[in-house]
Amino acid sequence: MLKANPDYLKLQGSYLFSTIAKKVAAYKEANPDKTVISLGIGDVTQPLSPSIVKALHTAVDEMAVKETFRGYAPDLGYDFLRKAIAENDYRSRGCDIADDEIFVSDGAKSDSGNIQEIFAPDCIVAVCDPVYPVYVDSNVMAGRTGTYDKASEQWSDVVYMPCTAENDFVPDFPEKTPDIIYICSPNNPTGTAMKKADLQKWVDYANEHHSVIIYDAAYEAYISEDDVPHSVFECSGARTCAIEIHSFSKNAGFTGVRLGYTVVPKDLKDTDGVALHGLWARRHGTKFNGAPYIQQRAGEAVYSAQGIAETKALVAYYMENAKTMRKALKDMGYTIYGGVNAPYIWLKTPDNMKSWDFFDMLLEKASVVGTPGSGFGPSGEGYFRLTAFGTHENTAEAVKRIAGNV
Ligand SMILES: *Cc1c(COP(=O)(O)O)cnc(C)c1O
Repeated sequence: MLKANPDYLKLQGSYLFSTIAKKVAAYKEANPDKTVISLGIGDVTQPLSPSIVKALHTAVDEMAVKETFRGYAPDLGYDFLRKAIAENDYRSRGCDIADDEIFVSDGAKSDSGNIQEIFAPDCIVAVCDPVYPVYVDSNVMAGRTGTYDKASEQWSDVVYMPCTAENDFVPDFPEKTPDIIYICSPNNPTGTAMKKADLQKWVDYANEHHSVIIYDAAYEAYISEDDVPHSVFECSGARTCAIEIHSFSKNAGFTGVRLGYTVVPKDLKDTDGVALHGLWARRHGTKFNGAPYIQQRAGEAVYSAQGIAETKALVAYYMENAKTMRKALKDMGYTIYGGVNAPYIWLKTPDNMKSWDFFDMLLEKASVVGTPGSGFGPSGEGYFRLTAFGTHENTAEAVKRIAGNV
């Protein structure tokens, strides 16, 4: 009997961004004379840097020549890229990570959604609230849910760790001990980042309770403060309790190119002593046929001297927007967080306005689109996310409209 996977059917409601798209489409239809500025979805807007484009062209040309043509890539990634990653993102920062602990993939969304497959179905999962929706949804699809409580918007078997202004957006240790702990820092959606001392406490907690930390470092390149770690492996003891996920999307603008990687240290073992490195390798070998050669050469170029300089300039471009928004919104009297180590501003809605009401008001009065905090989890209620991924021009125009009309 053909039946859809019942765990998939548990997923609640429609995807946040399709709800936003519908509201924006309705607004545009009713107001054809208005131009809408979107500071909503977390996608980059600047073109690829010259060093990347050159590497892509060169790799394409190689594919056209018999001697340099490549078929299937090694499923864990080409050595040239794994080495460049381990060297530049880890060893140069004093983190003890070997080339063969790097698993190259098509991006951080796939890895952060798929990594839960190597853990037992009855593992308890903890997520920060607000949360990057992939962490919860991929575990719902895998059946790690219990029942859904509509009032609290939570699954009974998922541990939600509130991250709000009250705890400085650093989760407190939960009452129920989790097996898998998702941490995203610098954080999407709050734009805040964990200090090294706070992350070290979580690493110690994970080692003590034999839990694993899945550390999403997609926004690592945006870190500007010295006491914010670039990797969980800067913390001592992380090799026995952490997996780290990275992306080339937000630093080098690869959202449409697709490339990422995950680090699984060989010292990371389950309670029976099973090494998770081997399981993730097995999973890659079975369900993934390797990131394309052309993309991996582009990834290698990100670590060239020119690539590093161009990536820095891209990040600086977006962070200039964050600065513009921070200053203007503060001057208007808003309480804001983030935007210092991440391209997101997390704004407290005025007078405890509901996130969706603030969304409607901003769209109606300023034709500006952001993302309601409550869409990322119950603790996001009363907050609102604006992204720094716009152009300088539309970012400046957006804050001008907010100042003049809201
Ligand atoms: C954008 C984003 C990703 C996805 O990155 P891709 O490599 O493009 O799949 C992963 N995690 C977080 C938190 C993100 O915001």
